[in-house]
Amino acid sequence: MSDQQPYSFFQSVEKSFDRAAQFTKWEKGLLEQIKACNSIYSMRFPVKMDDGSIEVIEAYRVQHSQHKSPCKGGIRFSEAVNQDEVMALASLMTYKCAIVNVPFGGAKGGIKINPRAHSIYELEKITRRYTSELVKKNFIGPGIDVPAPDYGTGEREMAWIVDTYASLKPGEIDAAGCVTGKPITQGGVRGRKEATGLGVFFGIREVCNMTDVMEKLGLPVGVVGKKVIVQGLGNVGYHSAKFFREHGSVVIAIAEYEGAIYKADGLNEEEVFQHRKATGSILNFPGATNLAKSGDALEMECDILIPAALENVINSTNAANVKAKIIGEAANGPLTPEADEILVAKGILIVPDMYLNAGGVTVSYFEWLKNLSHVRYGRMEKRFTENMNSHILSQMETLTNKKVGEAERKFIMHGAEEVDLVHSGLEETMITATREIMEIWKSNPAIPDMRTAAYVCAINKVGTSYAELGIFP
Ligand code: GLU
Repeated sequence: MSDQQPYSFFQSVEKSFDRAAQFTKWEKGLLEQIKACNSIYSMRFPVKMDDGSIEVIEAYRVQHSQHKSPCKGGIRFSEAVNQDEVMALASLMTYKCAIVNVPFGGAKGGIKINPRAHSIYELEKITRRYTSELVKKNFIGPGIDVPAPDYGTGEREMAWIVDTYASLKPGEIDAAGCVTGKPITQGGVRGRKEATGLGVFFGIREVCNMTDVMEKLGLPVGVVGKKVIVQGLGNVGYHSAKFFREHGSVVIAIAEYEGAIYKADGLNEEEVFQHRKATGSILNFPGATNLAKSGDALEMECDILIPAALENVINSTNAANVKAKIIGEAANGPLTPEADEILVAKGILIVPDMYLNAGGVTVSYFEWLKNLSHVRYGRMEKRFTENMNSHILSQMETLTNKKVGEAERKFIMHGAEEVDLVHSGLEETMITATREIMEIWKSNPAIPDMRTAAYVCAINKVGTSYAELGIFP
């Protein structure tokens, strides 16, 4: 808990939960069970560094809920990791999965390291050792607990995890399902990498397509022409920016921890990414204006602000200066509860993290299903569909004596590839969840904001699950 925050991250999740719980019918004890973190594994293990010194690594895995199995959630590498943070993030996973109808309980892992301060070989040793600690305590497995990438981790770390797990569990046929976010060659699914950013886009696009919601905010319907600011150019921020730009929005500013840049007619995230790679900073991007502080980007005039990095970036010190109409919480917990109150009072629509960034776990679910079924999506039906489409098309052409154009022919003929099915499943999931939460919000005028409506949705789903399970005597 930092000095200026009166609540820890976990307490702020509990606070939001309690606020929403009053709009549900569940008895106190059941609500307490939904809120509690079921199992907390706090570990310390030694790792020999490249220079021969030994470092004791602090790490966690928290399983918040087993109301559905396995439990699921990423592993983050960050110096800010602590037990409270991992507990909060694990709870958010339970609620997130419930909202998007992904049948998992929530979990989260964290290793307290600065990944930039370690060599790749050191990171590999830390990741493999962490995995074997999880195996020893039965905290990982395709039917137990399935980690995934999070802040500071990616495909590379997931490959180390699956390899360590599989070598410790020889013959386990479903071993690939012990972790998601893997490289394609190691059992990953196409579309996982961009999933969270694409989910953020689908969620906000759905909100922007709601006439009554846009009317209230004084904005035109749709995402075309909307001014977007993205904070964080990691995997989630990068892909959020990419999909908004590709669908006609204008990304006017991008912030990273070294600073922020602004360009009124729009930034291209790939060009900014390449510039950062080459120069080590997003600053001094050709044609853009540097902003003095990274945080300045959060306070600029825009339609949609996407905080896509770490928690608490909008807090009581800067919330009053935020001028966005919509905030899309791509990161987990980017707003403190005080900031949340200030922003809601200002009439800003906050689209909450808990469901908005669920694209990652949704596609993780698809990856896990792929691993259990041992077959790539589309393999069985792609050719069949194409043959059928070709047949229908030629019948139509014969009957009408007309030919369709080449581009149209290609489009009609296309049988779904894995990535098409994954994107389509994600789109369906995010649209359904957005509508469900909005319906809850509209159905009860006492519900103050979309976050509370999302919690109500989650509590009702997890509550139903516990109630139907019964409590084990
Ligand atoms: N780390 C991501 C999240 O916070 C993904 C988790 C997963 O795929 O299990 O939602």
